[in-house]
Parts: sequence; structure tokens; C-alpha cells
Amino acid sequence: MLYSGYESSWQERALCRGPQSRIFYAPFQGERRNDRHNREAAAKAICAKCSVRQECLDYAIRIKEQHGIWGGTNESERKKILTAIS
Ligand code: SF4
Repeated sequence: MLYSGYESSWQERALCRGPQSRIFYAPFQGERRNDRHNREAAAKAICAKCSVRQECLDYAIRIKEQHGIWGGTNESERKKILTAIS
């Protein structure tokens, strides 16, 4: 998911740029489990085609990003990665 700042080079090639970026985060009002599953699946499908997926995932792991889909992973999947590497 896009993040403004110093690592803009790979983010400029992110497939999640634009209106579809909203599906990478849960809505403020919450969502049902099935809606969350469908939203995350749609976001991950975009990530699967993204040329900067690894850079994105590395970044999200490094900053311990707690929200959204990054590099094809959701929050709980990144927590498992962090636990495995720490
Ligand atoms: S891997 Fe997914 S979240 Fe990361 S930049 Fe690409 S489309 Fe966006």
C-alpha cells in the first residue's frame, strides 16, 4: 500500500495506486468477516501482479506496519512473519 516518504521509487510502480487503494484497508465502520475476506482477496490479487511486491513486503515488515494489505499480506500474516524472523 502506498506510503508517502523517502522510499518513493518502488512506490511509484505500485499497482495499488489510484482509486482501488481503498480496498487495501478495512473501512472505518468495520466489516463483516465475509466482506473482509473478499476485500483482502481482491487486494491480494492486485499484489500478485505487482512488480514491487517484495520491496513492499520488506518495507511493511521493517516498519512493522499494523494496518492494511502490503506485499500480498494482511496484518496477521505479517505478525507471523515478524515472529518467525525475530
Ligand atoms: S505489493 Fe500490493 S500493496 Fe504493495 S505496492 Fe504492490 S499492489 Fe501495492
